[in-house]
Amino acid sequence: MSKFDVVVIGSGPAGYVAAIRAAQLGMKVACIEKSRNKTGALGYGGTCLNVGCIPSKALLDSTHKFVEAAHDFDVHGISVKDLSIDVPTMIARKDKIVKQLTSGVGQLFKANGVTGIEGAGRVLASKQVEVTLPDGKIETLDAENIIIAAGSVPIDIPPAPVDQDVIVDSTGALEFLEVPKKLGVIGAGVIGLELSSVWARLGAEVIILEALDEFLPTVDAQISKEAKKIFTKKQGLDIRLGARVTATELVKGQVKVTYSDKNGEQKETFDKLIVSVGRRPQSENLISADCGVSIDQRGFVFVNEYCETEALGIYAIGDIVRGPMLAHKGSEEGVMVAERIAGKKTAMNYDCIPGVIYTHPEIAQVGQTEEQLKADGIEYKTGVFPFAASGRALAANDTDGMVKMIAHAETDRVLGCHIIGPSAADLVQQIVIAMEFGSSAEDIGMTVFGHPTLSEAVHEAALAVEGHAIHIANKKKRK
Ligand code: FAD
Ligand code: AMP
Repeated sequence: MSKFDVVVIGSGPAGYVAAIRAAQLGMKVACIEKSRNKTGALGYGGTCLNVGCIPSKALLDSTHKFVEAAHDFDVHGISVKDLSIDVPTMIARKDKIVKQLTSGVGQLFKANGVTGIEGAGRVLASKQVEVTLPDGKIETLDAENIIIAAGSVPIDIPPAPVDQDVIVDSTGALEFLEVPKKLGVIGAGVIGLELSSVWARLGAEVIILEALDEFLPTVDAQISKEAKKIFTKKQGLDIRLGARVTATELVKGQVKVTYSDKNGEQKETFDKLIVSVGRRPQSENLISADCGVSIDQRGFVFVNEYCETEALGIYAIGDIVRGPMLAHKGSEEGVMVAERIAGKKTAMNYDCIPGVIYTHPEIAQVGQTEEQLKADGIEYKTGVFPFAASGRALAANDTDGMVKMIAHAETDRVLGCHIIGPSAADLVQQIVIAMEFGSSAEDIGMTVFGHPTLSEAVHEAALAVEGHAIHIANKKKRK
C-alpha cells in the first residue's frame, strides 16, 4: 500500500493548488482525479479549467471582440465589411486554451513531484483513501492527511431535464456549434448572465427566466440597477423576473417552456435552453460513514474556518465547503490547509474575497454592500464616480458604469467597493489589497494614481467619499 503525507481528492483549483503547495513544503503528495475532458485528457484543473472559468472567459473574449467590430469600431473611423463569425473556430480556440492549461497542471505536478493518480477517490476510516482505478481495480492509499476537494456540479431541476442537446447545462452551453436563433436561459445568476452574453452577442434572441423578483440580489442595489438597465436597454437581453419555470417539452428539435409569473402561466418556445440554476457539492460516495466527517443536508462537507473537518487530519476545501463557489476562494483555502499541515499558522480572510461577473461591462465587488450595512446597523458613507467622467474610459469609448466606494462613517475604513465598468475585475483588486491592509478611503485618496488610467475612477470614488472628487461636481461638499 502506498503511503503519502497528503492525499488530495480532486484536482480543481482548490485541489491542485493544495497539492502543489504541500509538495513545495516538502511533503509526499498524491492528487486523485476521476474525470476526463472532451479531448480525452485527464481533467486536471477541475470545473474551472475544463468547463468553467477559463472556457467561459475564452468565449466571452471572442464574442466581445465580435461585438466591438460589429458596433463600436465605426466611431473610431474603422469600417469592417462582411463581418462574420465562424463558431466552430471560436469553440476550437477555446478548446486549445483548455488543453494548454489542463496539461500545464500535469506539468506542474511533475515539476513539484506530486503523484497524479487517475481514479475515483473515497475517504475511509483510519485515514485511508480508496481509489477506484479506470479499469475498475481498487487501490488503497495510506494518508497522514487527506484534503477533500471534489468540487461541485450543476444543479438539475425536474422541470428541465438536461439532455446536452436542446436542454443544456453550463457545460453544454460552451459547445454550441451554431448560434441558436432563440435561446432560453433559466436563472439570472453569474453563470446565466455570462452564458447569455456569449450567445446574445452573436445574435441569439435571449430570454432569461429568473424565479426571484429581484435582479442580482447579492450585488449592491445601485450597481445591479445599473447592470439591469445596460443589459436590457443597451444589449437587448430580455430578463424576466418572478418567472419560475415549471415544465418543458421537447417538440420537433425545440423546447417549449412553461413558466409562471404574476400574471399566471406563460409559454415560450426556444431552439436551445440553458439551465443555470446554481451548483451543488459533489459529495456522493465520497466519504465513508465511519470516518467522522459530517456532511450537511445540502451535501456540503462541514468544516471550521481553517477547513478542518471534525476528523483529525481530514480537511475539505473549495466548492464542496461553505462560502462562495469561486476558484480563487478554493485555491486560497488549498494554500492555507497545506501550510497548516506543515505547521504554519496561515489563516484566510473570508471578508475580503472579490466576486466578479464577466459580462461587459464587468461587475466586480468586495466587502459589504449598502444593503448589508443597513441591515447590520453600521453607519457608513459612500463615494461614487462614473466612468463617463474618466478620460481613459472616454478614450476607449467604454464609459458605462461607475465605481462605488463604501467607508465606515466614523473610522473611514473601507468596508466595500462595488464596480460596474470596463476592467472592473482588475480594478477591484486594488481595493481588495487596500482592505487587507485596513486602508481608509482617505489613504486611497492620498495615493498617486497614474494618468490616464481606469484606476483613476477608483481614486476619484475614494475622494468622493468626503466630497473631494476633482472631476465631478460633488453632491456633498466638505473641506
Ligand atoms: P472543481 O473545480 O469542481 O474540481 C473538483 C475536481 O474533483 C473535478 O475535476 C472532479 O472531477 C474531481 N473529483 C470529484 N470527485 C472526485 C473523486 N471522488 N475522486 C477523484 N476526483 C474527484 N469561478 C471563478 O472564480 N471565476 C470565474 O470566472 C468562474 N466562472 C465559472 C464559469 C462557469 C461556466 C462555471 C460552471 C463555474 C465558474 N466558476 C468561476 C466557478 C469555479 O469553476 C469553481 O468555483 C471552482 O472550479 C471550484 O474549484 P474546486 O477545486 O473546489 O472544484
Ligand atoms: P446562481 O446560483 O447565482 O447561479 O443563480 C441561479 C438562479 O436560478 C437563482 O437566482 C435562482 O433563483 C434561479 N432559479 C432556480 N430555479 C429556477 C426556476 N425553476 N425557474 C427560474 N429560475 C430559477
